[in-house]
Amino acid sequence: MSKCASGQYIISLLEGFAPKKMAVEGDPIGLQVGSLNKPIKKVMIALDVLESVVDEAIEGKVDLIIAHHPLLYRPLKKIDISTSKGKVIEKLIKNDITVYAAHTNLDVTRLGVNEWLADQLQLMSTEVLSTTYEDQLVKLSVFVPRTHEEQVRLAIGNAGAGHIGNYSHCSFSSDGTGTFTPLEGTSPFIGKKGRLEKVEEVKIESIMPQSLQKAVVSAMRKAHPYEEVAFDLYPLLNKGEELGIGKIGKLPEEMNLQEFVDHVKNAFGISSLRVIKGKKSMIRKVAVVGGDGNKYIYPALHKGADVLVTGDIYYHNAHDAQEEGLTIVDAGHHIEQIMKRKLKELLEQKIDANKYETEVVESNIITDPFTFM
Ligand SMILES: [Zn+2]
Repeated sequence: MSKCASGQYIISLLEGFAPKKMAVEGDPIGLQVGSLNKPIKKVMIALDVLESVVDEAIEGKVDLIIAHHPLLYRPLKKIDISTSKGKVIEKLIKNDITVYAAHTNLDVTRLGVNEWLADQLQLMSTEVLSTTYEDQLVKLSVFVPRTHEEQVRLAIGNAGAGHIGNYSHCSFSSDGTGTFTPLEGTSPFIGKKGRLEKVEEVKIESIMPQSLQKAVVSAMRKAHPYEEVAFDLYPLLNKGEELGIGKIGKLPEEMNLQEFVDHVKNAFGISSLRVIKGKKSMIRKVAVVGGDGNKYIYPALHKGADVLVTGDIYYHNAHDAQEEGLTIVDAGHHIEQIMKRKLKELLEQKIDANKYETEVVESNIITDPFTFM
């Protein structure tokens, strides 16, 4: 029987790929208003939680808004409902709408906002622009009866274990004998209560980033035939994947600046943008940072970018970039709205796979405050 997922469950799916610990220090991510302890019929993905977005959520009978930009960024001293922020909070609480923010954790994670932006620009062989987080590696070894070896190996591989370079499903197996005595209250898959059993088993070993540990262990348990699964997790000293803010990669082919500007406009569906002209006449290597890119001018230069695509560039920083010869395409902070569709698709897939009826929609309100006149 299918049913609605709870708020906690939906957020556990989200944090499965964008864990809170990946957020930049001090970023107020997570639950912002309301409660996750309730069934969720409808989730809405939004870039910003403005009053118009809350009205849209009320109209659409939404139970949970997952937003990229935190509604409450600086601490509030009071909730005065004659102010716009106070009114937004009042409307959310009166209509039992929960707000959860996935901000820099969704920027930093492997498959997050910056990767989606890079994808939209068709960048290839992308790398992290500025490292903020190093994912730890973990080794899993699990003991499986031979009959279920393939099933378990496939399940952990599909959940992301054993991904090394351009290879997936990497693992090592060794044969052995497992022993156990089923005690009172058990219903063993093999053997009888009170009798020592010997079973031919296989030990499967594989590695994974710690951020995938929960998903891999849960997939392993589902595929494993035993009530009590014997497995070990070891933290490793091998270097894990570096994650962080922004991406840098190459265009499929070189473009001149005008061609590149048209390419950016097409990619993000925008009609105008600001350009700070640097020295390079042809563009191949592109850095992209969603949101405020002021701090990423020098990382982009150091990594050899021909252009930085970002938003919110200040006048004096624009001068600095220009003096250094770096071209900046300020496409606006609002290009991050791509996260509405991408996160909706990702969550929907996970909710459907777990056979819940919760509906995921994206906010249709354009929250870009800027108009070119
Ligand atoms: Zn942003």
